[in-house]
Amino acid sequence: MSFGPHITRRDFLNGALLGVGGALLGCSPSRQIAQDDGSEASWSLRPDWYGYGGVGDYRFSHGNTPEVVETAHRLRDRGLPSGFDRVESIHHHDLVIVGAGVAGLGAALEYSKKRRAGQTCLMLDNHPIFGGEAKENEFEVGGVRLIGPQGSNSFFTPEIVSDPEGASGDPRYYAELGVPREFRFRDWEAVDKPLRYGRDNYEHLVRGLLEHTSLGHFFSTSPSAVGTWAIDMWERRLADTPLSETARGTLLKWYTSGATRQFASDEQAVRALDIMSYQEFLEQELHMGPEAARYADLLLASACGLGSDAVSAYVAYKLPMPGLTEPLPPGLRRASFPGGNSGFVRYFIKRLIPDAIAGTDSFEDIITGRINLDALDRAGQPLRVRLSSTVVSVEHEGDPASAGTARVVYTRQGRLYGIRARAVIMATGGWMNRYVVRDMPPEYREAYGQFVHAPFLVANVALTNWRFLHRLGITAAIWNRGEGDFGFTCNIRNPMQVGSYRPPLDPDQPTILTFYTPFHHPGLPMRVQTTRGRAELLNTSYPEFERKIYAQMMKLFAASGFNPQRDVAGLILNRWGHAFSVPFPGFFGGASGRAPRDIIRNRHGRIAFAHSELAGWQHWGTAADEGRRALNQLADAI
Ligand SMILES: Cc1cc2nc3c(=O)[nH]c(=O)nc-3n(C[C@H](O)[C@H](O)[C@H](O)COP(=O)(O)OP(=O)(O)OC[C@H]3O[C@@H](n4cnc5c(N)ncnc54)[C@H](O)[C@@H]3O)c2cc1C
Repeated sequence: MSFGPHITRRDFLNGALLGVGGALLGCSPSRQIAQDDGSEASWSLRPDWYGYGGVGDYRFSHGNTPEVVETAHRLRDRGLPSGFDRVESIHHHDLVIVGAGVAGLGAALEYSKKRRAGQTCLMLDNHPIFGGEAKENEFEVGGVRLIGPQGSNSFFTPEIVSDPEGASGDPRYYAELGVPREFRFRDWEAVDKPLRYGRDNYEHLVRGLLEHTSLGHFFSTSPSAVGTWAIDMWERRLADTPLSETARGTLLKWYTSGATRQFASDEQAVRALDIMSYQEFLEQELHMGPEAARYADLLLASACGLGSDAVSAYVAYKLPMPGLTEPLPPGLRRASFPGGNSGFVRYFIKRLIPDAIAGTDSFEDIITGRINLDALDRAGQPLRVRLSSTVVSVEHEGDPASAGTARVVYTRQGRLYGIRARAVIMATGGWMNRYVVRDMPPEYREAYGQFVHAPFLVANVALTNWRFLHRLGITAAIWNRGEGDFGFTCNIRNPMQVGSYRPPLDPDQPTILTFYTPFHHPGLPMRVQTTRGRAELLNTSYPEFERKIYAQMMKLFAASGFNPQRDVAGLILNRWGHAFSVPFPGFFGGASGRAPRDIIRNRHGRIAFAHSELAGWQHWGTAADEGRRALNQLADAI
């Protein structure tokens, strides 16, 4: 199958450039195999792996870069040194923060308020731009600027707090950073159809929010069979679906189930629910057929990495899912900045290093202003942010209980550098920390050993028009994932309007169609699911994913007029090898009350751990809280 001339040319150019990069990196053709015992296989990347990155400041950093993946796996295979004997230089900082995601930025914000005169902090991140999973993609299609999320997506506007310092999570940072509470979206002039639009990439998966979206479900029995659409099937009580009576009965029972259990406290909910998966809860307590769990997978795997067979019923209760909570109140909406939660990251950065983002501290400038990378790492400023730098070793200089410093080694452009620091915050995940922190005590290793990390792919397809969706009367699609299918959902958003950034909402104008794609294999052991998924994510070349995505779009939309040559302007893949820490039953302590994360949250000498994964399900506000907690734990060490 061949696609639009513009695509082919871009891919050719990118492929050629990546070929050169690959040769420099010493990449060989892929030879990766999924291991069924759940252990990670060895592998290497193909030169055509990374693909097109769009335009603008984020174009060189979409998902994990080949350099990040390659360095991380050398680290895992013990191919990188720990000591200062091979470093080019050694510098001193009071504090080193590893990771420039929201957790690292939360630590940096707290440091900026607590630091004493003369103290310095260096933040290191292995990607070419800050933000971690909260980054954005940018396209320009026919003169229209379009921004979409690379990963972290959206939010509910939190309650107003009068004392931000006394608050935590979203309300605290929302108030402290001055994020607006009202947003403008595009009016839909109902050109010829009364369509409804999600405001993010999750609403159409959530009971109580999906009613805001014109949602189509596509059913097909085999790759070759012609499928059928059921539009707005929940409002129509599944009437137009080809589902069996039994399946309909189960799904309707699930969808309409309110809170079947009441808890006096959160602790009680943990003890009662964190001992089983959501699937076990549905099947054993509510006696529902498997269809309910499989439908619940759509949201759970998109928000937690694996589906209801792996996710704790306690998380389902908090998210909130049918059977454990009442439906959300009507009128509630989520919002997503143009680049998803990259908007919050930009607020943090603007506060910490104002000229790192061009313009004033207005909403428009913070969200859409150009990034000035040179401002991040200037000598003399109290916080320096150094990108494209992978920390490969952190350890105390002496006994962790009494050492006065920790030794940090990082690699940048193939060279090794050393830092002597009074304290280190690892705002990075357990899959990394286990290899980087060389003197990690056994109980921390054991605790981290219980964490399960799942991969995820966000594919943003820039469209010249979306008439083919409009003809169907939908703005979001879900399909039953059959053999050979790609993903299970995609949608367009009503794009937030920010100052002069005003993307259109018109079926004959450009937009971004986003595929949120987990790699779950319900029923298999969790680690088998995640390693298989990672194998698929990392072992598929850009052209192969491109072929799969357009083939899926043909399957769904060819009959309503989709023509890839005409309608597609570009594709960006954002691959996250360890996107989510899966909150499995027991993650929060279960019946015993002993949670592995409680061990990690203890300070280890001059090192503290902060990552959104410690909160249980990853979220921007709690990520920043983890960073703040880590900074305060180390206050007397800095
Ligand atoms: C697809 C997707 C959708 C999501 N949607 C939402 C959402 O709607 N709302 C929400 O609140 N949250 C969402 N999240 C969760 C999101 O991950 C968190 O909200 C938050 O952004 C994570 O921040 P973090 O700092 O904990 O981790 P990360 O974002 O992972 O940041 C850690 C940083 O450290 C870097 N790093 C790791 N190891 C090293 C090393 N050795 N040396 C140097 N740097 C290193 C990493 O590359 C990364 O840049 C989503 C996540 C994904 C993947």
